[in-house]
Amino acid sequence: MMDDCIFCKIIAGEIPSEKLYEDDDILAFKDIAPQAPVHFLVVPKKHISMPADVEEVDDLVMGKVLRIGAQVAKEQGVADNYRVIFNNGAKSGQVVFHVHMHILGGKDKPWPM
Ligand code: 5GP
Ligand code: ZN
Repeated sequence: MMDDCIFCKIIAGEIPSEKLYEDDDILAFKDIAPQAPVHFLVVPKKHISMPADVEEVDDLVMGKVLRIGAQVAKEQGVADNYRVIFNNGAKSGQVVFHVHMHILGGKDKPWPM
C-alpha cells in the first residue's frame, strides 16, 4: 500500500467506494464522476503507478483486470457495448497514479473514435 495513493486507500477501505467486484487480486468500483451511463474502474490491488510500469510478474493480474472488467460489464448490462481506456501519464489525462482500467459503457451513440 502506498501512503499517498487514493486507490490504495479505496482498496484498504479507508475511503469508501461503490464496489462491484472484489477478490484477493482485484477491485472494481464505480467511478465517482461517470463519463458514460456505466463507468467503473478495475484496479489490481498491487500498487503499480501506470501501464508503462507493468512488469512481467504482473501479466496474470493485468489479464484478470480485463477478464473481470468484461464480467462486471455484463452484470451492469453492457456486455456488448463498452470501451476500455487506460490513461498512461499526466499528459494523457492520467490523474490517479495507480494503474486502472476504465470501462465506459451503455452509450447509444458512437464514440468520436
Ligand atoms: P484517470 O484520469 O487517472 O485515468 O482517471 C481517474 C478516475 O478516477 C477519474 O475518472 C475519477 O473520476 C476517478 N476518481 C478519482 N477519485 C476517485 C474516488 O475517490 N473515488 C472514485 N470512485 N473514483 C475516483
Ligand atoms: Zn496505489
